[in-house]
Amino acid sequence: MSNKIIDGKLISSEIREKVKKFGSQLKNKTGKVPGLAVVLVGENPASRVYVKNKIEKTIEVGFNSIEHKLSEKVSENELIDLVDKLNNDENVQGILVQLPLPEHVNSDKILDRIKPEKDVDGFHANNVGKLWSGLNSLVPCTPLGCSILIKKISKDLSGKHAVIIGRSNIVGKPMAALLLEMNATVTICHSRTKDLESVCKNADIIVAAVGIPEMVKSNWIKEGSIIIDVGINRIERDAKKILVGDVDYDDCLTKCSLITPVPGGVGPMTIACLLLNTLLASYPQFNQPTPDLSSILE
Ligand code: NDP
Repeated sequence: MSNKIIDGKLISSEIREKVKKFGSQLKNKTGKVPGLAVVLVGENPASRVYVKNKIEKTIEVGFNSIEHKLSEKVSENELIDLVDKLNNDENVQGILVQLPLPEHVNSDKILDRIKPEKDVDGFHANNVGKLWSGLNSLVPCTPLGCSILIKKISKDLSGKHAVIIGRSNIVGKPMAALLLEMNATVTICHSRTKDLESVCKNADIIVAAVGIPEMVKSNWIKEGSIIIDVGINRIERDAKKILVGDVDYDDCLTKCSLITPVPGGVGPMTIACLLLNTLLASYPQFNQPTPDLSSILE
């Protein structure tokens, strides 16, 4: 493996080990085990795979996994009732509603119904507001995973220019808040950005979260830059179905200083951070002081 690769698979497995250790200490102290409830609506094949992985990894770290698989036809009110039930269930410390939800359901309404203290996806408006105010909060899993990978390289990004491609609530926007916390100078790009290529050429760090296969090429990046590729795109190449990121990995490898591969980069970090968030959410619910994230990760 090239020494330029940021090995998300390895780092995520280390995080899961730490979550398991802290979870077991919490159980010894309180007699309680953190529980993560996952709600899956419909038959979206990608969502089913994500949920299956999440459940497996939840059980592996010794947490309780509570699953609710609902028909595509479930009504908004039925979903709200389920969220209310999980909000009030003392065996559930974290609630994750797998997106996307069917079109007849207002996703924002469902996500905002989850109690902020059980919102392990970090999508509730309270948690979003806290993140942007620099207060302790549950942070969306994918950008949290990216920030942990970046902190492995450098904890302080003073004087560094970070460019994020994508402004979604799930990745791009929270990523910007986390990079600002690390003192980076942050530029957020999106589909209306003019001359994206030259913006990227000035970046010391690029976080690509677009959903366009291999969009970022070597002639877009600065020599020695750090590339975090969030994209997960299923494409067909040489009659084989493969996963590629939003960055042209082979093309950029020689020019960048560090890069996350796809698969094996950001993807596994997302699940590890979901478990980390479930652990963090459990302390106050079990009336215990919450340790610093850095003390769990060190
Ligand atoms: P969204 O579709 O919600 O957002 C995509 C963003 O990219 C939007 O802000 C959009 O701009 C921008 N964009 C689209 N086209 C261009 C373009 N040509 N130039 C510049 N910007 C553009 O996607 P997500 O944020 O949810 O996901 C992004 C990628 O990350 C996907 O590949 C997804 O599969 C992957 N992903 C991976 C995860 C993981 O665990 N590794 C978790 C979540 C997502 P605008 O706002 O103007 O439309």
